[in-house]
Amino acid sequence: MRDKRAIIIKSPRLQKIRNGFRDVFYQAARLKRKKIYDEMDRISRDDSGKPMPIRLMAPDAKKRFRGLQEQENGITDMIDRSILKCVTCGKGHRDMVYNKAYDAWYCTECYGLEQVAAQRRAKARARDSDKAKSCEEKAIESHSKTFL
Ligand SMILES: [Zn+2]
Repeated sequence: MRDKRAIIIKSPRLQKIRNGFRDVFYQAARLKRKKIYDEMDRISRDDSGKPMPIRLMAPDAKKRFRGLQEQENGITDMIDRSILKCVTCGKGHRDMVYNKAYDAWYCTECYGLEQVAAQRRAKARARDSDKAKSCEEKAIESHSKTFL
């Protein structure tokens, strides 16, 4: 995929269809996560149904539990980085812009705010180019450059 890609739909009818598809995919991912949580809950209980700490689980159960945790983390990361919702504000029924540097989708509103902030920082950077910068300032600069 290109470094930047905006998916903008102007027709309200098509927006409704897009939002419907996003809802379906989001619900499917949530359902998959719920099944994983249910399985994790089942594994993490003793014979009387009482919750059991992971450290007390049998090795096979512990391995299965960790595998399920990994699957759940993968689904959460996939949703967070997908076009289903903005990585910044979490809203899903919006036009989106992909930022390859973060492998994530931003709604056009959040992307615009990031871009304005990046442009301000670029101007300030040009003024203060010889000033010593902290690690935090360098990280913010690096983040900002991906929106220019
Ligand atoms: Zn947003």
